[in-house]
Amino acid sequence: MAISPIAIRLPRPPVPWTPLVIAEERCKGCELCVAACPKAILALSRDLVNVLGYHPIHLTDAPACTSCALCARVCPDAVFTVWAAPRDNSREASFEERAR
Ligand code: SF4
Ligand code: SF4
Repeated sequence: MAISPIAIRLPRPPVPWTPLVIAEERCKGCELCVAACPKAILALSRDLVNVLGYHPIHLTDAPACTSCALCARVCPDAVFTVWAAPRDNSREASFEERAR
């Protein structure tokens, strides 16, 4: 019996890049993430209501986010997908040039 290869689709970072992808429709507005964020850059959108009837969370200052993922760890509803900052290829290139 032939063994068929398993295709694994790796997740791709958002374009344009952002540190957090927020599934607003799953947010229940409990604010656990607000309390957990060391940068204090998460807040409820008081002017929005999601399909569950809650004010969803949003990121107030994306450049300040360190992708520490504490918000994702405490969220009971897996609302956050956290992305590390893109690698600086120019720095890698200069490192390779220095190594020559
Ligand atoms: S990843 Fe860290 S810094 Fe960014 S919003 Fe979440 S808890 Fe705050
Ligand atoms: S912890 Fe999750 S469910 Fe609670 S407010 Fe934050 S994102 Fe919404």
